[in-house]
Amino acid sequence: MSRFHSLRRGRRAPAVTFSLVVALAVSAIVSPASAAPQTPARTGFTTTRAAEQAVCEQRFLPLPRSDSFREHLRTITEHPHPAGSDAQRRVGRYLAGAMEAAGLEVVSHPYDVYLPQLTDDVEVHIVTPVAMQLSNREPELEEDRFSGHPELLNGWNAFSGSGDVTAEVVYANFGRREDYRALDSIGVSVAGKIVVARYGGNFRGYKVKFAEERGAVGVVMFNDPGPGGPDALLPYPDGPMMNSQTIQRGSVLTLPWTGDPLTPFEPALPLDGDREVERLDPSEVPLHSIPVLPLGYGPASEILNRMEGREAPEAWHGGVEGVTYRIEGGPGLTVRVRVDQPKALTRVVNVVGTLRGTEFPNEWFVLGAHYDPWGFGAIDPNGGTAMLLTLGEALGELAEAGCPPRRSIMIAHWDAEEAGIIGSTEWVEEFREELEANAIAYINADGAVSGSNFGASSSPSLKDQILEATKAVAYPGTDDSVYDWWIKRAGTDADEPSLGNLGGGSDHVAFYTHAGVPSGALSSGNPGGVYHSNYDNFAWYERFGDTEFVFGPMVARTDGVLALRFANADVLPYDVERYAADVRTHLASLHEVADARGLDVAFPALATAVDDLEDAAGDLAAARERWTASGDVKPAAAERVNRALIGLEKAWLNDRGLQDRPWSRSLYVSPDPFSGYASWMLPGLRYEIETDNRAALRGWERVYVNAVRGLAARMRTVEQMIEESR
Ligand SMILES: [Zn+2]
Repeated sequence: MSRFHSLRRGRRAPAVTFSLVVALAVSAIVSPASAAPQTPARTGFTTTRAAEQAVCEQRFLPLPRSDSFREHLRTITEHPHPAGSDAQRRVGRYLAGAMEAAGLEVVSHPYDVYLPQLTDDVEVHIVTPVAMQLSNREPELEEDRFSGHPELLNGWNAFSGSGDVTAEVVYANFGRREDYRALDSIGVSVAGKIVVARYGGNFRGYKVKFAEERGAVGVVMFNDPGPGGPDALLPYPDGPMMNSQTIQRGSVLTLPWTGDPLTPFEPALPLDGDREVERLDPSEVPLHSIPVLPLGYGPASEILNRMEGREAPEAWHGGVEGVTYRIEGGPGLTVRVRVDQPKALTRVVNVVGTLRGTEFPNEWFVLGAHYDPWGFGAIDPNGGTAMLLTLGEALGELAEAGCPPRRSIMIAHWDAEEAGIIGSTEWVEEFREELEANAIAYINADGAVSGSNFGASSSPSLKDQILEATKAVAYPGTDDSVYDWWIKRAGTDADEPSLGNLGGGSDHVAFYTHAGVPSGALSSGNPGGVYHSNYDNFAWYERFGDTEFVFGPMVARTDGVLALRFANADVLPYDVERYAADVRTHLASLHEVADARGLDVAFPALATAVDDLEDAAGDLAAARERWTASGDVKPAAAERVNRALIGLEKAWLNDRGLQDRPWSRSLYVSPDPFSGYASWMLPGLRYEIETDNRAALRGWERVYVNAVRGLAARMRTVEQMIEESR
């Protein structure tokens, strides 16, 4: 029997009317099983509504159930189901059915997007000094009943070019911009060569982009196990980490926009639909043309061990045992890479369920995760998918039990994220105007559940409410709340848990950086080394992931409390005061980046604007508090104020976008344009610092001063609206 047994069993809430729920309020609040704070004083809530909310949260917390979470995950990951496959269409129908059964209104949103076809026609050989074909498929394992599935594919990289090349090799470390520059500086050219690079350090697409720019004819990327150590976890199947045959698949697309390569700014609506969409010709899009493929470190070491050039610097040494990492292979070693990767317009389908708000149906709190994997995708993405289904069921049941949300809660399952964040981006492009006007927040759940380590990152205006939500939820197997557990992990002298800034690389990108929707991501994971491999499956998950299936419900509870507070508050409880504090932190980081480059920069006008922003935010927060404390918040007035609050984040949108990236409209955050995954804060300024363009900094400082003043002015307007409503 599990030590989490009592949590797993859960309590089913009887269907009661809301007045009965209110009558039960007192007993629910003093219930000893309650993990929620006892005081109903809550940002954005009048006292009366806070009491109702406390009751509804107590009803909600037991509803996300382990058995349901487990069953959804097991069913969804029964077969490999990458975007464009028949299996993925079946999974899409399953998601729609599960959300309908939970009481959500479900709409499917199809798009025809440019995708590599699911052929894995790739091979890699050593040609000289020996003839040897290298394995590019994970072998079947006795301990893993999924690993021999006939529909599994070889290792491949989406948006590789097609071609058949034979050449000498050069090792480029992680294939970062600085790595290629280091090769340039010692006079090593990759022109006409095949680049061998280890995964890590940047988004894999940039390894290819920089190689191609320097004339390389192909790229082989490999999983490097990194430094071992006495406490190192064991390789799969004895432990959760990569083994010598584990392959990381993944897209290598590096376009200055996210989503369908052929339709930047526009939704890739179906070819057979009513509205015609202009599509670029693939020849007009800067796709990579050289062949690229991934290997496990076992096969890769066959190449590395035969290299004969000078030894690579210490920092370039990876962790493959017995290998001396060298820069050049020398003329005696030639490698052949062959990739045949046709691409075509392919139907993908997002599945979106809505729990309609009873009072403000056109204000949306959106949660989402992609549902397409490379293989089975038990961790990435479907731990998140199963969590969202469990959350949808709990919210549906809660509505039945007398606590429907006042605003709409949407649960979205995106298709084709892996190839280039495509499904979510097309949806945001289709509904951009509505989202800018209606979307309160977007919470992403990509691979959100694979274990016990809780974490979160978000835009400033969601941070406070994310922290508050974690206080309401119990951490499984302890007497702690998620918050308690999280802050203990941050260290004894921390004021708050470490709540990061959201970066690139998943479905929040279009919401956050293109449409200006405040965004966040909550997750709970375990260490593992099966990312994007055929071993990311239910067998791994049962042994090394969320083995008791308790962390899925924990994340669902936290996401749910967060959603319910934004859905039910009288006045939207955005953390308006966090903007100024966070911008100051980002400015300090920019100074560090500039210092490291020997640049002396100062932004006095911007610093003054941030001081004014702090004042405006403090006044707005105080006005909101007085208003809710008065207990007299009329719905019509609140609706006007809430619309204006939703508009705050749009002060960061720049219609012309960022340098060389018109699609990236947020001045606040963007993916790092030179590495992909990491986030750049205040990216317009960061770009000029990174490219040593001091002359352009002044102009960009003015852009930022205007944005910050614009945000402060919007806050003053909202404060005024509140004062006039009282
Ligand atoms: Zn993912």
